[in-house]
Amino acid sequence: MGKPAILLATSNPHKLREVKEMVGRCLELFYLPDFSLSSPEETGGSLEENARIKAVYAFERTGMPSLGEDTGIFVRALGWAPGVYSARFSGGDDRENREKLLYLLRGERDRYAEFRTALVFYDGEEFRTFTGKLPGYITAQEMGDGGFGYDPIFLPLGHDRTLAQMKPEEKNAISHRKRALMEFLKWFLKESRL
Ligand code: IMP
Repeated sequence: MGKPAILLATSNPHKLREVKEMVGRCLELFYLPDFSLSSPEETGGSLEENARIKAVYAFERTGMPSLGEDTGIFVRALGWAPGVYSARFSGGDDRENREKLLYLLRGERDRYAEFRTALVFYDGEEFRTFTGKLPGYITAQEMGDGGFGYDPIFLPLGHDRTLAQMKPEEKNAISHRKRALMEFLKWFLKESRL
């Protein structure tokens, strides 16, 4: 029997690559550009709402069991901002988002932050939500050129290298996304009618 097909409701190739590395042995993964679709607008007020919007959007356009994913970085000293607004934090690209975060935290001693991921599965019948979190600290400057997004300024708790200094498999072993995905996979393989 072939692997079950899942549409990851993102157009971010970095996310697709990471998810394939983590669960590609068990699932046949697609993403929105495979269907010439772009991402829907993130109009929700929480990661979970945005993940749900993405899952519904993907399912309604393709009829495929879909997994919506939304991630944010939550910084304690900024009242847990930018959170759900992480992608639009500076109004610019990933580099400008990192620069803005470092600028706002200059001289700040409390550098605690968390990556949080929400995953919502939708197959036209049921919704299921899974979450994952990665605690750590915002560095004083960028370090490393791997990963994407906020990875070069995020030092996971208990580690001495940023996510961008780690090999992909090191990041994928501990990441917020991995934690949420493992919860999903456990449920999917057990509960799904396969
Ligand atoms: P979204 O989940 O695609 O809306 O991404 C929200 C923001 O967080 C974007 O700025 C992404 O670049 C960033 N982001 C998402 N996942 C990660 C990650 O695993 N590491 C670093 N940044 C991420």
